[in-house]
Amino acid sequence: MAVDAYDLTARTAFVTGAASGIGRACALLLARAGATVHCADLDLPGLDETAAQIRAEGGTAVPHHVDVTDRTGLRKAVEACERPHIMAAIAGIMHSSPVLETRDEDLDRVLDVNFKGVLYACQEAARLMLAHRIRGSIVTMASGAVDTGGPGLLCYGAAKAAVVQLTKTLATEVGPHGIRVNAVAPGWIRTPMTDRHEAGAQDRIEALMARRSPLGRVGEPEDVAHAVLYLASDASAFMTGQILRPNGGVAMPW
Ligand code: NAP
Repeated sequence: MAVDAYDLTARTAFVTGAASGIGRACALLLARAGATVHCADLDLPGLDETAAQIRAEGGTAVPHHVDVTDRTGLRKAVEACERPHIMAAIAGIMHSSPVLETRDEDLDRVLDVNFKGVLYACQEAARLMLAHRIRGSIVTMASGAVDTGGPGLLCYGAAKAAVVQLTKTLATEVGPHGIRVNAVAPGWIRTPMTDRHEAGAQDRIEALMARRSPLGRVGEPEDVAHAVLYLASDASAFMTGQILRPNGGVAMPW
């Protein structure tokens, strides 16, 4: 297969979480591959920055200021794509609390953003792909936390485990229509989220994570974006219901 398999010219992609970190790296890479990229996020200045960067590189970006937990708002934004070929449902939040201290409102918020936000994005994209007979690709955002568990990861890990189940289930349901659904489950990636979460301890945590990787480093957003590009493009034409793990070979970080 030629490298043209990565060419996304004439395709439209929708990326949630596009204002920051991994989502921004995905939006930029999909645009560099030729896609028109609809960028969605809550963070308006970050969104504008991503769109400006794509345009400065000669690409086409359409920003949408939207909360992924607002199904109606998200539907309007996805419908603005008219014919989405690619959905990358990346937006998410981090939360950590011991099981015995976890409050209902923490669990609800994390499930709302990290699971329902991904579910809504998948549903809206899949509906349009089916209506227009588009043999599209949907990429969801899970996490290495699904494989490992870990202290404090109840809410976050439960939401990401639900994303894995959504990915596998939807893949079986829309596969007969030529639509593929895959997840990425990254390891430790250096982003504003991990910076915020480990405020003041980034260097120590990164050194620990790097030691646990055979590659001797933590991940960068671009490492995940390349996995998303692969799953979004025809290069992965025979991949569906899969979980791809850009994690530097870290199998058990705890
Ligand atoms: P990030 O830099 O914080 O980016 C996440 C983006 O999502 C932010 O712009 C955030 O906006 C946005 N967002 C949050 N809630 C939203 C909502 N309700 N509606 C719309 N946008 C919303 O984090 P990241 O590290 O790139 O994480 C991206 C995804 O990768 C997440 O799903 C995360 O769980 C997953 N992940 C990250 C790692 C890692 O090590 N970084 C590892 C595995 C998986 P605000 O800033 O305004 O909240």
